[in-house]
Amino acid sequence: MALQFRNSLTKKLEEFKPIESGKAKIYTCGPTVYNYLHIGNFKTFMWGDLLKRYLKYQNYEVTHVMNLTDIDDKIIRDSQKTGKSLSEFTRVYIDSFFEDYDTLGLERADFYPKATEHIDGMVQMVQKLVENGLAYEVDGSYYYKIEAFKDYGQLANIDRDNLKPGERVSSDEYEKESISDFALWKAWEETDGDIFWETEIGKGRPGWHLECSVMSMKYLGETFDIHTGGIDLLFPHHENEIAQSEGATGKKFVNCWMHGEHLIVEGKKMSKSLGNYYTVKDILDKGYSGVVIRYLLISSHYRHQFNFTFKGLDAARESLSRYTDFFSNLESYKGGNNSGGKVADAMATAKMKFEDSLDDDLNISGALAAIFDFIKTINRLKDEDNFDFAEKIDILELMNSFDTVLNFRFSSEGIDEEIEKLIAQRTEAKANKDFTVSDKIRDDLLAQGIILEDTRDGVKWKRKI
Ligand code: AMP
Ligand code: ZN
Repeated sequence: MALQFRNSLTKKLEEFKPIESGKAKIYTCGPTVYNYLHIGNFKTFMWGDLLKRYLKYQNYEVTHVMNLTDIDDKIIRDSQKTGKSLSEFTRVYIDSFFEDYDTLGLERADFYPKATEHIDGMVQMVQKLVENGLAYEVDGSYYYKIEAFKDYGQLANIDRDNLKPGERVSSDEYEKESISDFALWKAWEETDGDIFWETEIGKGRPGWHLECSVMSMKYLGETFDIHTGGIDLLFPHHENEIAQSEGATGKKFVNCWMHGEHLIVEGKKMSKSLGNYYTVKDILDKGYSGVVIRYLLISSHYRHQFNFTFKGLDAARESLSRYTDFFSNLESYKGGNNSGGKVADAMATAKMKFEDSLDDDLNISGALAAIFDFIKTINRLKDEDNFDFAEKIDILELMNSFDTVLNFRFSSEGIDEEIEKLIAQRTEAKANKDFTVSDKIRDDLLAQGIILEDTRDGVKWKRKI
C-alpha cells in the first residue's frame, strides 16, 4: 500500500508525494510559551513524532521545524503581571518544554525558530502584502484584507458570502462567527509597556498568524510538504497562514495539512484556560514514567479524540511491560531448534501489517496489533525452544526497526551497559560466596527500578515500568 495521509485541505485521503523525491519537509505549530505545557499539547506533538519517525523508517530524509511562539497577546498579558522581561518570562516555559519533550522521548526538530528573532522577516511580509493589495494600515496597525484574496476559506470551508468586508478583528484568537480582516501587525499601545519593535512599518509587534507563515517558509521554502497542528488551529490560524503566505508569494504554501483531534477530559478539551489539565510533571509525580505517558499518547489515532484517564495510563503501563519484557526475555534466550520457516513467516506478516497500518494515515492501533500478535507467536515458539539463535537475532532486528518508529525503549539507552556491568559483578560476588556484596548490588538495582531474575539461562533483568 502507498503511504497515505488525510489532507485537511482537500478533505481526502491522499498518497504522500513529496516535492523533492525522498525528502519530507514538515512544519509543526509549536507551543505558546506563556505557561507550562499540558499533556494535551503533547498529544499533538506525539503524533507529529510518529509521522516523522515513520517517514524516516521509510527512508525519507526529514526536515522538521517547530516554532516557539514567544510573543502574542497572552504572553504580553501574563508577562506583565510578573514584572519580568519578555525573554525572562518565556525562558522558564521554553526550558520546561524541552525537558518534557525529552522525558517523552520525542525526537528533537531540526529548527526551533523563535518569533521574536524573526521580526524583520515579518515586517517584510507585511510590506509585500501591502504591495500586493492584500493588506492595509489603520492607526499604525496592519490588517489582511480577506475579500481581496480569492481563495480565503479554502481550508476551513468558509462560504465567501459570510465574509464581512471592512470589519476587523485585532485579537489573535477568534471564532468563525467573527471572520473578518485580521491583524498582521499591531501598533504599540500603552498596555504593551516596553514590548515593541521599532521597524520600517512603525512601532509595534507581529500578530500570531504572521509568525508561522514567515518562520515556516524561511526554513522550508515557499512551498513545503506537510503542516501539522491540533484541530483548534485550523481556523483561523492555518486559514490565515495560507492567506498570508500565498498572498505574498503567489505560490501554493503547503501540499498536505494534517490536523489532530484533542485530548479530552470528561468530554472537554484539556486546556489551560479550563484548568482541567495535567502537565507531564504532574503525572511523573504520580509515579508514572515518561515512556508510559508516551505509550498512552501515541496509542490512539491522531484524528480521534482521546479521553484521558489514569486507568488508561495503567493499561498503557501493562502493554508497555509486555513489549519491553519481550525484548529482555529474548535477549537472554540462547536458541533452540530451527523453526523451519515459521519465524520468517511471522516476521513477514508482522512487517506487512505494521507498514500497511501506518501507511493508512498512521493507523497506530493496527501497527500495535501487528506487533503484539507477533510477540504472542514468537513467545509460543520460544516456550517450545522452537527457533534458533540466528532467528532470534532476526526477530530482535525487526523489533528494533519497529522501535525506531515507536521509541518505547528510549529510557534504557546508555544505562543498559551500566546495569550489565553490575550484574556481572554480582555474579562474580556470588561465585566468591560474597553474599553481602551480591545482595547489595541486587538491592541497589531494585532501588533504581531494575528487577533481577535468576533463571536457567543466567541472570535476566527487567525494568519496573
Ligand atoms: P498552544 O501552546 O496552545 O499554541 O498549543 C500547542 C499545540 O497543542 C497546538 O497544536 C494545539 O492545537 C495543541 N493542543 C492544545 N490543546 C490540546 C488538546 N487538549 N489536545 C491535543 N492538542 C492540543
Ligand atoms: Zn502556527
